[in-house]
Amino acid sequence: MSDLSNPIFTDEAKARKWLERRIWPNGPICPKCGSVDQATLMKGKTTRPGLYQCNYCREPFTVTVNTLYERSHIPLHKWLAATYLLMASKKGVSAMQVHRMLGVSYKSAWFMCHRIRESLRFNDEGPLGGEGMTVEADETFIGGKEKNRHRSKRKHLGTGGVNKESVFSLVERDGRARSFHMETVSADNLRPILVTQVKRSTALMTDNANVMTLAGSEFKSHQTVNHSIGEYVRGGVHTNTIEGYFSIMKRGITGVYHHVSAQHLKRYLAEFDYRYNEREALGVNDTERMAKSIKGIVGKRMTYRRIEERANKQA
Ligand SMILES: [Zn+2]
Repeated sequence: MSDLSNPIFTDEAKARKWLERRIWPNGPICPKCGSVDQATLMKGKTTRPGLYQCNYCREPFTVTVNTLYERSHIPLHKWLAATYLLMASKKGVSAMQVHRMLGVSYKSAWFMCHRIRESLRFNDEGPLGGEGMTVEADETFIGGKEKNRHRSKRKHLGTGGVNKESVFSLVERDGRARSFHMETVSADNLRPILVTQVKRSTALMTDNANVMTLAGSEFKSHQTVNHSIGEYVRGGVHTNTIEGYFSIMKRGITGVYHHVSAQHLKRYLAEFDYRYNEREALGVNDTERMAKSIKGIVGKRMTYRRIEERANKQA
């Protein structure tokens, strides 16, 4: 499947150099005093590779300080390779595939995939939409048993039915997507998401679910199609973009990941949003997508610890 021929995926020194250039385009940054390009690479037989010392405050540091990789025993080149596998696949890559392709234990592969997904969260800045732009908003349901998927049942239960998780997404036409795992979807909890994540000058399109009527009125325009009476397109009014996005997400989550627990769903959503936002159709190739995603590892150290603690508790 994916092409792992780039030496940064097999050679630790090359992986480190590559990472340094991504994280420090203007030279090493001291994590203690913030000085840029004022550090000396330490050399010596017992010195860790990539160890710098700040010329000002004498702080020793490496490029992984305060990143997702800090304290990890997994080599950097394997981190980069796993990130590439996740970024280059259309539907996602299972921990089993990462385990087999990179020769790390299944457990390590599982941790790595979750940490990488976590690094993709909140990586996308600013509200969606704006003047002259259309954002489609809708809710879908992920997981659960097939027999619970019937639309009439979902409607009846209101929250998506037994064993199913609600996902609320916003998708710009020709642009970005942002998804939220919701315990329940109501007018009260949708409004804060809509008004903080979408610019008021946006044309909003939804199906005619009542939960969005009130918040929708705060936007430049809010048009609806009535799916319950079989209306899907009325001129330019439709939610086909978001329906298409949901189908990619569902194919990946059910086809590759099979079962996604509620606890981790937000991280899978971040993965699907990220790949969609940096997609081929917008001119981003696999290598560029992987390289861009790396900026998300910075400042994620605490989160990484929390994931590991939770995972250890479960194990
Ligand atoms: Zn310093």
